[in-house]
Amino acid sequence: MPIDIKSLTRDELAAHLQKWGQPAYRTDQVLDWLYRRRAASWDAMSNLPKALREKLRGHFTLQTLELARKQGSSDTTQKFLWKLADGALIESVLIPANPALYGEASDRHTLCISTQVGCAYGCKFCASGLDGWKRNLRPEEIVEQVIAVERWSSADENEKRRKGAEENFPLPSVPLSPPRAEPPGGSERLINNIVVMGMGEPLANYENLLAALRLLNAPWGGGIGARKITVSTSGLAPQIRKLADEPEQFRLAISLHGATDEVRATIMPVNKKYPLKELTAALDYYLSKHGRMITFEYILIAGVNDRLDQIRPLAALARRLHAKVNLIPYNKVEGLPWARPEEKECEAFLKALENEDVTATLRREKGHDIDAACGQLRLKTERELAAAV
Ligand code: SAH
Ligand code: SF4
Repeated sequence: MPIDIKSLTRDELAAHLQKWGQPAYRTDQVLDWLYRRRAASWDAMSNLPKALREKLRGHFTLQTLELARKQGSSDTTQKFLWKLADGALIESVLIPANPALYGEASDRHTLCISTQVGCAYGCKFCASGLDGWKRNLRPEEIVEQVIAVERWSSADENEKRRKGAEENFPLPSVPLSPPRAEPPGGSERLINNIVVMGMGEPLANYENLLAALRLLNAPWGGGIGARKITVSTSGLAPQIRKLADEPEQFRLAISLHGATDEVRATIMPVNKKYPLKELTAALDYYLSKHGRMITFEYILIAGVNDRLDQIRPLAALARRLHAKVNLIPYNKVEGLPWARPEEKECEAFLKALENEDVTATLRREKGHDIDAACGQLRLKTERELAAAV
């Protein structure tokens, strides 16, 4: 299988170009096209000699993601459903830093990215694992989610500007400004925060994940700070230790969802393989290496893990591991029996945790039909496609 150019490090690309007798500055020119100008084809790379473009085309693929479906609008959470080269579907979710609903719209965004097609871990409440695991994403498929979302957002912005111009000057002869090739704010990215919380278990695709995060982090690549990249895991203890040994300061979030083995194992089969004792020992190791605060994600599911008897053990774990707790009311998944607790019960759970001296937040956004966790748009689309045949 040919190598995709967006899986290469700067040194690897430079070595190829040097071998082909190209001047040294070509490396930065190519990287500029890939990561800053988000070129979707070789032909777009207009300042490269035609012969070099042909050479690149002959050696590498330049994969882009095909948009299969999009939900939401530019000032709210937007979901992108992508079709990969083999027809598989994955999702990315773009979240504005300050949704217009709650204040001023921001030009800085968080992107939630996927790392696998499906998921093998089968958490009972999750849409991503319902049909099992299909395959790992390659580094370029992970990286390209960021680039493709920015490409689409800037196309949307151009469309808005075009419409605005038409409304103000409804004459066909009005010259329109050319499409903006660069991200808003010059060379800065639209996306400055990444959460690896989309479809799949990132630490089960460890090598490709790390390669992709390094490309997104590199100053010549995505340019996104390691501390602005959070990896979420259902708790693969050996890989947490491995991540602790990496030099980068990526942030870590743990999908806890239960503070005792008894409760956690009822909804997360992974807890049988890595029970809390083993998970927390790996987290101790991670903390000894990084000393950074970790986050516990705790979805509140009615009658399952929202009883106040979880408070004490949860608070004890959070205090011991210096973790912040993110409480997330469950998003209903069609066909699954789980439900979110009443609002006042979520508030009571938060209050009880705070009384135990734990730093905790409760996600209170409305409109959870669009905020819904990753995996759901794919599930819906696949079900619709299956019903159509
Ligand atoms: N596999 C990784 C990352 C992807 S899941 C992990 O499990 O951490 C990202 C987060 O979304 C996890 O905390 C997961 O438990 C949560 N999640 C999954 N389905 C959800 C739902 N229906 N409502 C709310 N959160 C959900
Ligand atoms: Fe996989 Fe995470 Fe969903 Fe569990 S919560 S099935 S690990 S994606």
